[in-house]
Amino acid sequence: MSKKAAGKTAGGAGKAGGAGRSKKYVYFFGDGKADGNRNMKDLLGGKGAGLAEMTNAGLPVPPGFTISTEVCNIYYEEKQKIPAAIDREIDDHVKKLEKAAGATLGSTDNPLLVSVRSGAKFSMPGMMDTILNLGLNDAAVEGLKRRTGNGRFAFDSYRRFIQMFGSVVLEIPKDAFEHEFGAVKKASGAKLDTDLDEKALRDVVFRYKSVVQKKFGKSFPQDPREQLKMARDAVFRSWMNARAIEYRRIYDIPDHIGTAVNVQMMVFGNTGDRSATGVGFTRSPATGAKEFYGEFLINAQGEDVVSGVRTPQPIRELEKVLPKAYKQLREITTRLEKHYKDMQDFEFTIQDERLFMLQTRSGKRTGFAAVVVATDMVAEKLITPKEAVLLVDPESLNQLLAPGFDPDEWQKIPAVTRGLPASPGAASGQAVFSADRAVEWVNQGKQVILVRRETVPDDIHGMFVAQGILTATGGMTSHAAVVGRQMGKPSVVGAGELEINEAAKQFNVKGQSVKEGDFVSFDGLSGEVKLGRVASKPSEILQVVNKTLDPKKSDLFRRFNQLLTWSDKFRRMGIRANADLPDQAELAYAFGARGIGLCRTEHMFFGEGRIPIVQKMILADNEKDRRRALDELLPMQRDDFYGVFKAMHGEAVTIRTIDPPLHEFLPKREDLMVDVARLEATGKTGRQLDEKKKLLARVEQLHEFNPMLGHRGVRLGITYPEITEMQTRAIIEAACRLAKEGVKVMPEIMIPLVGLVKELRDQKAIVNRVAEQTMNAQGVKIKYLVGTMIEVPRGAMTADQIAEEAQFFSFGTNDLTQLTFGFSRDDVGKFLRIYQERKILERDPFASIDVDGVGAIVRTGVQLGRKTRPDLKIGVCGEHGGDPSSIHFFEQVGLDYVSASPYRVPVARLAAAQAALAVKVGD
Ligand code: PEP
Ligand code: MG
Repeated sequence: MSKKAAGKTAGGAGKAGGAGRSKKYVYFFGDGKADGNRNMKDLLGGKGAGLAEMTNAGLPVPPGFTISTEVCNIYYEEKQKIPAAIDREIDDHVKKLEKAAGATLGSTDNPLLVSVRSGAKFSMPGMMDTILNLGLNDAAVEGLKRRTGNGRFAFDSYRRFIQMFGSVVLEIPKDAFEHEFGAVKKASGAKLDTDLDEKALRDVVFRYKSVVQKKFGKSFPQDPREQLKMARDAVFRSWMNARAIEYRRIYDIPDHIGTAVNVQMMVFGNTGDRSATGVGFTRSPATGAKEFYGEFLINAQGEDVVSGVRTPQPIRELEKVLPKAYKQLREITTRLEKHYKDMQDFEFTIQDERLFMLQTRSGKRTGFAAVVVATDMVAEKLITPKEAVLLVDPESLNQLLAPGFDPDEWQKIPAVTRGLPASPGAASGQAVFSADRAVEWVNQGKQVILVRRETVPDDIHGMFVAQGILTATGGMTSHAAVVGRQMGKPSVVGAGELEINEAAKQFNVKGQSVKEGDFVSFDGLSGEVKLGRVASKPSEILQVVNKTLDPKKSDLFRRFNQLLTWSDKFRRMGIRANADLPDQAELAYAFGARGIGLCRTEHMFFGEGRIPIVQKMILADNEKDRRRALDELLPMQRDDFYGVFKAMHGEAVTIRTIDPPLHEFLPKREDLMVDVARLEATGKTGRQLDEKKKLLARVEQLHEFNPMLGHRGVRLGITYPEITEMQTRAIIEAACRLAKEGVKVMPEIMIPLVGLVKELRDQKAIVNRVAEQTMNAQGVKIKYLVGTMIEVPRGAMTADQIAEEAQFFSFGTNDLTQLTFGFSRDDVGKFLRIYQERKILERDPFASIDVDGVGAIVRTGVQLGRKTRPDLKIGVCGEHGGDPSSIHFFEQVGLDYVSASPYRVPVARLAAAQAALAVKVGD
């Protein structure tokens, strides 16, 4: 999902001191009314906006307030301090909250307890910090005991609070607390945590406070307002922790948007057997099926469910134990889905049979689920086709194209165990037991399965590179499940039979032992786990596209096709494909491309048996020999063009004349030198040695210091006009042949790397002359265009002149990016990551268009070109043509089409529709 369009929250925020009266930084919700609403995600974050909206809708939401994302930015601008004016505003809201809650922070008879949670505009599950039970101190804990009549509960809450506050806010290692907890358990002979009575828990609290005194150097803060300030600042600090930064990098979330902090009255799911806490989805986030879906734990706090430490019960069971609350929950969540017109992900707590809603937001889902939910919701008349098109992240369509297991291969191996099918897809690879190892092995070219007892947010880098994620504990909403689904990573969680020993890098299951490096495979849709390696097969969509599966037999294809057909109605830009050979063109057409935006003819030179002929052409030291070799190539190119034209059923096909430097077709200089030396050493003489020597001499002649800035593109056509002649003839002959067969063709001949109008004029004259001759010889007239790529900045800046000659433009944004930045396309990898880590560049400009620089040049090129030729057809054929956020930009500058690689055509169709509807995805 592209987050590039996210607005700048800091913009205009100003400094709090000078902000004046009107500036508001804190937003209240409670008593059926909220200051904010769902449209204020920039300011309130997703969670804050959701809480406000639910409050306004009259749902049972515990009262609270949201400290806006602007304050996060101010916190960093002010060197990690909050200005006094904002502190005062927060204090006022604490008072308001105390009133709404009918409880007071630190009170000895009715203490208010709050949760302090992060909440950015885009959800970042588990990446930032949360503090629960804040407000407890030595006096308030007695108040809590008095109010609930449950001393065990009160002291358990207090010890949890000290532990959480101690580790998150005071940064004391968790072990220090766990050590004391274990000691008390041992001393009192308790097996389970729940076996500890009030007395034992008082002892735990006492010991925890000594841990704080020792490690923090001060006693545990007793003033709840002080606790609140410290917790708030810790949440702001967690915006910049390493895993949050990594998460933002992966999901392309800008750093500057900051997080909000939500302070909310605590409700307790752990007051006894009439209490519970849970999470759920209105539909299955894995498959999209319309089923109420989720899980809960009786007598537990929220973190127990999401952390994956205890395996929760499926939500259906809730109906049996707490039927009234269950019924209310179903009613509320159905209402929420209708209200938001999207599948919802919600959190709830039941305190003594009373239901509270803690969160609702659009549920993260797999690509499969996204397509199923969108098409189902239209069928249910919950949304319109236009809304359905806006509901699906274009990138997620890629998941539908990913391979699955070959069923025959899969059947051969028996399942060794089964876990929860958290995220669909076939995964097969070598077992690794740590995220770091996963990254290390993937960098060595291996495919890995990350096997963990449970994943933690710090595992994010390993999860990202693994083929799949397999865990032994946790439910469908555990960290591994949520993150796996979001990444579109096959995941099976809670496979309880796996006895995982991460330290020993192995697991045992049913008497078998699996060590690091052994192959493991699993199916994220069924949850089956197998030992061994299993080959995969193409996705259902691809099988239909390749005509090996009847479309009527694939429900998934029907939905996929439906969504894209709706998209086609809403988009303005055309979608073409970059395809060089007939089979690629056929695939692209089947995916919905209507036209070829770039056929790189040199790729045809690499076809079987062709390289020696190409080399003959290059080695020729006179025009006659060169022409002879070209004559040999001509029929081969013509047949390819014929196939490509035919596959496109009369849509425009843009064929580019030869582009790369010629040495790319010759062997490497070093290899030749070795060959020559070897032949000479063995005393061989004669033809073979002579040929190698000749080749070496030519390679040396063609050697360039900067080949990408060298003898390539139009410069080749100018120096070897006979190549342009041959290619034109091949194109026009193929077109004439089809015309004679009654098939419509629309060739567009494109000259690459033009920076000077005279370069184009030179080549256009050749093309027109040869085309005329060829058509005369064939006795057929066909319509064709001659245009150019705009990929050299000078070409864009003089586009008004170039448009005098060019009948169309196609932006080659790969070279344009290379030449605008002065970054070599082939070497940028050496420093790009560092640029991104240091935030010198937010994104890879070769993947997503640099709007400010390269984009400005594109915009100028479009304006100048159309000044000369108002109806100039303009497209883009660089990699950016398949990138959703770049597609938004191309829509804005008014291009006629984008051209993407065949597999990205579906993504481009959907992204172009969203761009035309001008809605920022993720908003
Ligand atoms: C481009 O430069 O954007 C382009 C499409 O051409 P190539 O990638 O072949 O240089
Ligand atoms: Mg190029």
